Amino acid sequence: MTQLKARDPRTGEYDYQFEGTDRSALEAIASRQRATAQDWHALGLDGRMAKLGALADALGKHHDAIAAALEIDTGRRRIAGLEVDGTIGAIHGWLAQAPHLVPSGWTEGRMNPAIRHAPQFLPYALVGVISPWNFPLTLSMIDTIPALLAGCTVIVKPSEVTPRFVDPLRVAIAEAGLSDVLSFVQGDGATGAALIDTVDAICFTGSVPTGRKVAAGAAQNMIPAFLELGGKDPLIVLESSDLEAATDAALRSSVLSTGQACQSIERIYVQRSIHDAFLSRLVEKAEAARLNWPDITQGEIGPIIFDKQAAILEAHIEDAKAKGGRALTGGTIETHGGGLWLRPTVIGDATHEMKVVTQETFGPIMPVLPFDTVEDAIAMANDTEYGLSAAVFAGTLEEAQAVGEQIEAGAVSLNDAALTALFHEAEKHSFKLSGMGGSRMGPAGFQRFLRRKALIANTGAPAPLGAFAEDAQ
Ligand code: NAD
Repeated sequence: MTQLKARDPRTGEYDYQFEGTDRSALEAIASRQRATAQDWHALGLDGRMAKLGALADALGKHHDAIAAALEIDTGRRRIAGLEVDGTIGAIHGWLAQAPHLVPSGWTEGRMNPAIRHAPQFLPYALVGVISPWNFPLTLSMIDTIPALLAGCTVIVKPSEVTPRFVDPLRVAIAEAGLSDVLSFVQGDGATGAALIDTVDAICFTGSVPTGRKVAAGAAQNMIPAFLELGGKDPLIVLESSDLEAATDAALRSSVLSTGQACQSIERIYVQRSIHDAFLSRLVEKAEAARLNWPDITQGEIGPIIFDKQAAILEAHIEDAKAKGGRALTGGTIETHGGGLWLRPTVIGDATHEMKVVTQETFGPIMPVLPFDTVEDAIAMANDTEYGLSAAVFAGTLEEAQAVGEQIEAGAVSLNDAALTALFHEAEKHSFKLSGMGGSRMGPAGFQRFLRRKALIANTGAPAPLGAFAEDAQ
């Protein structure tokens, strides 16, 4: 067993010790779960729905303990509570949909109506979930809930950066009677890599470099990999936009969770005629945002959860300044009580030569760039190796939609931004380096855990070999 330590993002202290799960311990858990997989499947959808309902109840009962642990993991209070509420809500959402997501019954053949087919859906016995540190509970459960409902058993390996929420969560899982089919294993990348060798399908949320390793491991084992990776989401603001609404959405979607969200807006393109007015209003609003330090019950901006991320934010700001960018507000990593903070940072005079415009920043930084024509804006928005999501503001929905349809990304928010954080009902793929595999959201987010089997019946007479003879008529 590897000894690991986690840092408290508000104090900078490595005050939480835990053990990483090694390959042999992981294999023992996997073989126990494989032994229960048949019974879990045989329970049927109604039986599994009852168990997931019990998990929602148990999460409600242990809400405060789980939220308190998440608060230390992430250094923020309100979002910690919202993660627990959101997970309970996600369970209820899937419970309402699941009975309607798999077709049944016979379909007559088109070429030969005597031959008909019926589907059978078989879950993967054991699914692995590997999650990142930015929303530790949400991203551990987002694929786990539909996988369990579909009839899979699941092993989750959360990030080693934010491990504290797992203990109170395990209490809720045990109370719901799910410990035989849902395990959390602690550990770093080595445990994650071992998990890929143990399961029948892998769901991964994290960075592109790790995603490539996960995809390679999955390919080696010939198992499906569902990858949700990084992004560099653009926001396009057309001159017909409502400036108040556009600046509100731009700020919220860029700095919520201190920008530590995959679907954060990370670059803002504003039509030249309104560029200066937009910029000064955005700066005004950004300056009004408060740190949640020293009082965690106040403010909007939490600490940088992962200290190594602070170095990336700093490097992107310095690179922008060296290339002519201006930090109009924020711009300096601040240390308070041992934790690291960055206030909302607006970068004026940004260009596509800067890292802050082309590489994932994962912080509360808003480079703003002017554009002249809509075609220019679309070209710049698409000039990226990422394709997670995007946003467009315009005076009318039709105008925004016309632009949104030309953006190469899996989800485009219209007249708002980062709506995928709030709305999980629409199916979406991750384009380019932002991921691969079926949609995690909408009906496909459930169906992808089921292998489709076809039962093909001939209600007429089977063809004799002679029907295929060279000299058959
Ligand atoms: P990361 O890739 O460093 O780590 C993610 C997880 O992978 C962790 O649990 C880690 O222990 C594990 N891991 C590390 N090496 C591994 C290996 N060789 N094999 C298997 N697992 C391994 O990512 P992070 O820094 O924790 O998270 C931030 C990244 O996640 C950002 O790029 C962000 O955009 C992305 N993200 C994407 C989404 C999405 O839905 N697309 C959501 C949230 C975060």
